[in-house]
Amino acid sequence: MELEARIATLRMAETFVIARGASDEAEAVFVEIRHDGVSGFGEANPIERYDESASSAFAFLQEAEELLGDDPFALEAIGARLAERPGEHAAKAGIDAALHDLCGKLAGVPVWRLLGLERSGPPTSWTIWLGDPDDMARRAEKVRGRFKRLKLKLGGEDGLDVERVRAVHAVSDVPLQVDVNEFWSLDEALEALPQLKELGVEYCEQPLPAGDPDGPELKRRSPLPIYVDEDCHVLADVPVCAERAHGLTVKLAKSGGIREAVRIAHAGRALGLGLMLGCMNESGLAVSAGAQVASLFDHVDLDGNLLLTEDPWPGVELVDGVQVPPDEPGLGVREAVPDPR
Ligand SMILES: [Mg+2]
Repeated sequence: MELEARIATLRMAETFVIARGASDEAEAVFVEIRHDGVSGFGEANPIERYDESASSAFAFLQEAEELLGDDPFALEAIGARLAERPGEHAAKAGIDAALHDLCGKLAGVPVWRLLGLERSGPPTSWTIWLGDPDDMARRAEKVRGRFKRLKLKLGGEDGLDVERVRAVHAVSDVPLQVDVNEFWSLDEALEALPQLKELGVEYCEQPLPAGDPDGPELKRRSPLPIYVDEDCHVLADVPVCAERAHGLTVKLAKSGGIREAVRIAHAGRALGLGLMLGCMNESGLAVSAGAQVASLFDHVDLDGNLLLTEDPWPGVELVDGVQVPPDEPGLGVREAVPDPR
């Protein structure tokens, strides 16, 4: 098999703000894997938090071709060879997605069918990124009727996080979820969570820093389910996450792709954990990879392509709040011809 990678810039429709910083654009690496005249495509969305960048992912991908071999269906063996090289999970996810796209095209079936899954999962949440409470409420009002859940980014470090949720709750009629991105202490969490419960919040994602020793105590005392994102990357993390959370936030960019995400989902179920599928600021190519396995999850946050000025890989459709993958072989999305303007 041959592999080609190229770096692309994704432009956000509006500046995306979370506790760790703000961004107007995101860099992605598109991966093409060719076999017998057929091309599979995948997307790598490097995560700065884990010391990944577009150039580190690109460098990994350039060296990965020699690990692919000649059988695109040998996913387990290829994955094992990739796993021997440390880190760069986003790049690995790009390869995994391209291989799944390729296998689906060779077999003539969508990836969700190849995996024996349902086509559609739960409705996606829409992310209300971090801002002052009025601003967040305004943005929540703007999408009324379009999304069936809202995910609020918290961690403003200004004592206003509960006010943010109160302001959005006042103008919204859909379930709310919050993501603190590691910015609370145990005391802050124990003060905020009962108030969030009263406001009908469904669960709280990553209130404490990853690995915080207070995690198990918060799990015991929290009135709301705690989900972990920054704590949960690959299958081996699941037992530790079960001690500190009621649910796992899985992202293909963290797990290294569809295969490991499915393993995490099953391990999580075996431990009685809730499951949430998240995404990065990413195009429809990566969102389609997530959407193929969304039916395994209780909660889905796959709004990455919807946050872009323009999706360079259209094909996933937002239907009644659900990100529905195409009913076409592989991941089913095609690169848009760039607008000459
Ligand atoms: Mg998160």
